[in-house]
Amino acid sequence: MSVSLVLFTADLRLTDHPPLRAALDGGRDVVPLFVRDPAVDAAGFAAPNRLAFLADCLHALDAGLRGRGGRLVLRSGDVVEQVCGVAAETDADEVHLAADVSGYAHRRERRLRRALEAEGRRLHVHDTVTTVRPPGAVTPASSDHFAVFTPYFRRWSQAPLRDVLAAPRAVRVPDGVGSEELPDRGRVAGVSPGLARGGEAEGRRRLAAWLRGGLDSYADDHDDLGIDATSRLSPHLHFGTLSPVELVHRARGAGGAGAEAFVRQLAWRDFHRQLLAVRPHVAGADYRPRYDRWRSGAAARADLAAWQEGRTGYPVIDAAMRQLRHEGWMHNRGRLLAASFLTKTLYIDWRAGARHFLGLLVDGDLASNQLNWQWVAGTGTDTRPNRVLNPVRQGRRYDPDGTYVRRWVPELARVPGPSVHEPWTLRGSDRAAADGYPEPIVDLEEGLARFRRARTGG
Ligand SMILES: Cc1cc2nc3c(=O)[nH]c(=O)nc-3n(C[C@H](O)[C@H](O)[C@H](O)COP(=O)(O)OP(=O)(O)OC[C@H]3O[C@@H](n4cnc5c(N)ncnc54)[C@H](O)[C@@H]3O)c2cc1C
Repeated sequence: MSVSLVLFTADLRLTDHPPLRAALDGGRDVVPLFVRDPAVDAAGFAAPNRLAFLADCLHALDAGLRGRGGRLVLRSGDVVEQVCGVAAETDADEVHLAADVSGYAHRRERRLRRALEAEGRRLHVHDTVTTVRPPGAVTPASSDHFAVFTPYFRRWSQAPLRDVLAAPRAVRVPDGVGSEELPDRGRVAGVSPGLARGGEAEGRRRLAAWLRGGLDSYADDHDDLGIDATSRLSPHLHFGTLSPVELVHRARGAGGAGAEAFVRQLAWRDFHRQLLAVRPHVAGADYRPRYDRWRSGAAARADLAAWQEGRTGYPVIDAAMRQLRHEGWMHNRGRLLAASFLTKTLYIDWRAGARHFLGLLVDGDLASNQLNWQWVAGTGTDTRPNRVLNPVRQGRRYDPDGTYVRRWVPELARVPGPSVHEPWTLRGSDRAAADGYPEPIVDLEEGLARFRRARTGG
């Protein structure tokens, strides 16, 4: 019997999985393999929230495979050595893998191809597993990537979409392939108390609920912090428990303004991936350098700590940072405001903020995180790089009655109405209700002037 090996990475699902379908072609046996590579952990990606979510995903994948007669094989070690080892043990002559965009993923692919071919085995890399469009498939005439979202989105929307693949009915795994024990979510220390559950079944449950009850109002409500009306599917997209191609099909099938706005967000995800794929260094370096001399020293370190801990004295920023710590997730408007506050109002390096986010976000993702941080810092693809978001005005606009702030900042839970966004203006009993909440760590006008001076060289 011929054997194929499927290396699962950021595609931990059975539905709409082109590598698995190709591996099964012709009635082959399949080894579904996941490798825990210490190189990924060493690069700082082993954040507790993501490890816990990953544990759920691996258990769910194993359960899905067992329901089809198979099981998941887990190994730890250098990914290339492990794949070659399992391929040799099972005499697999082909290996299937989803394409991915980071420098690590590109190196993995090159090393795997070399090592497998040296042993007479073939590597098949599949597009449209972790993205809707393959990076590099949508490019302008004069460059290897789009630097501006709107023209990218126009072309992205026009290209045809492949069909969604059903999950296979049966997966036969060769006998005798050893596996390590799957990790246990309960054993991961330092997990956020409100962390969501992972796994394909959970992702599909959330997707069904979203299509039924959220998508319609998404265009109107997605920016409202209090209503909290976004899909929360980002961790499932990050771990690949849901397919982005399927999400576009399902949203377009539902139709309406909400679906259009939602599909546009999925295109943003691809947009950042097509950029990182050809400029891997922008994970750490400015895409468009502005020659910033970011603040450093004791005062900057104290400001960074106040931001991280959600005690800046600006309620909407503190609410967002506390949501991040509690849930391992943050609303997109909160991310924009928190990042603008750090990089522009406090004038602290976007890399410090991106690192803190990656330490906590369950959807923490090199392309989406680093490039959104750069977008906000004005070193990325924003065509208005020096815009500064005012946390009071934005709070009043996107959390008009203060629901979000009161939800996450208990010191302000008894302050009524929108004045919760400016606790320093409160008088009398309202002021007493805000007792214990810190004073602002920076004057907004002074922060703005400092940023403008820095960016204009004045
Ligand atoms: C500073 C900053 C850091 C961010 N870091 C990450 C990150 O590490 N991982 C991550 O997945 N997203 C990141 N985002 C993008 C966005 O905030 C999240 O994808 C979104 O909040 C997830 O919530 P949701 O699933 O409810 O999104 P929805 O609004 O329901 O959107 C649907 C999907 O579209 C994608 N998406 C939406 N907005 C963006 C965007 N601006 N860029 C890329 N993809 C997007 C996500 O996959 C999301 O799940 C960041 C944004 C900012 C401003």
